[in-house]
Amino acid sequence: MPKMRAVPVTKPGATLEVVEREIPSPGPGQVRVRIEACGVCHSDVLTKEGYWPGIQYPRVPGHEIAGVVDALGDGVPEWKPGDRAGIGWHGGHCGHCDRCRKGDYLTCRNGLQVTGISLDGGYADYVVAPWTVLARIPDEISFVDAAPLMDAGVTTFNPLRNSGARPGDVVAILGIGGLGHLGVQFAARMGFDTVAIARGADKADLARELGARVYIDSRTQDPAAELQKLGGARVVLATVTNADAMAAVVGGLGPDGRLIAVGAPQEPMKVPVLTLIGGRRSIQGWPSGTSVDSEETLRFAALSGVRPRIELFPLDRAAEGYDRMLSGDARFRVVLTMT
Ligand code: ZN
Repeated sequence: MPKMRAVPVTKPGATLEVVEREIPSPGPGQVRVRIEACGVCHSDVLTKEGYWPGIQYPRVPGHEIAGVVDALGDGVPEWKPGDRAGIGWHGGHCGHCDRCRKGDYLTCRNGLQVTGISLDGGYADYVVAPWTVLARIPDEISFVDAAPLMDAGVTTFNPLRNSGARPGDVVAILGIGGLGHLGVQFAARMGFDTVAIARGADKADLARELGARVYIDSRTQDPAAELQKLGGARVVLATVTNADAMAAVVGGLGPDGRLIAVGAPQEPMKVPVLTLIGGRRSIQGWPSGTSVDSEETLRFAALSGVRPRIELFPLDRAAEGYDRMLSGDARFRVVLTMT
């Protein structure tokens, strides 16, 4: 049998090491993707450290997959070998429960299959997945750019486009990291009056380069007060993982303004409820999206020029790439390359 490289987590906390495995064959309704690139996401710690309950090890992490369809199982419509395809968090759904039949796969009653957690992911040369979770990658977008868009991209694009904000509305992105640097670009390209909030004066130039009209340095300025000077934000997309930093911007929302959390702090967020009541403000979470949402993210990126900023590591150095991601110093997404 032909072999491939894979970088599984053998048990919680184990070091990432390259191993040789048999190349998997697609079953009915499945495709095999030859992986060209896979993003390293902070949530890969769920698999690496065993923070997600019930993971069966060994498990290959990675849910920012970009590659080429390589083989088809029986009964796969629409896709053919050679098609460029991405796979994100959405790894499968039952397809027959009431929610799936409405297209709400992420809340599938029979449990969403999660790439890199309940199924092997993209730290490998090949992956097998149901055809229903593939996203088409437009020719304009390289594999290494497509990979982070499969999660970091859709996680910022999808809540912004569903937020109810309209062109010209003040929309703030809290945090300019792996998620935020994409969020700022998407918000600006969607026509919002885009504000970036981060720590330190040194990020001001970057924020403007990405498309922000206004930069708020939360080290020296009160972000809530600064947002109120702009009339109050319609939406704040919170990409940070610090609950206090999130709470500190709620007072900057305008009437009916909404804080949408996509970063996941460990600790609870404390917010004075009266602040919510007075301005009919709300706080919401948002879980990335389905494969269709990812496909639409890629298409919008192709149309608008939104691209991630990335650092590349070959698959053989996956452990190093993972550590680089964990350090928080990567500018801004780490991507593993297979060829
Ligand atoms: Zn279902």
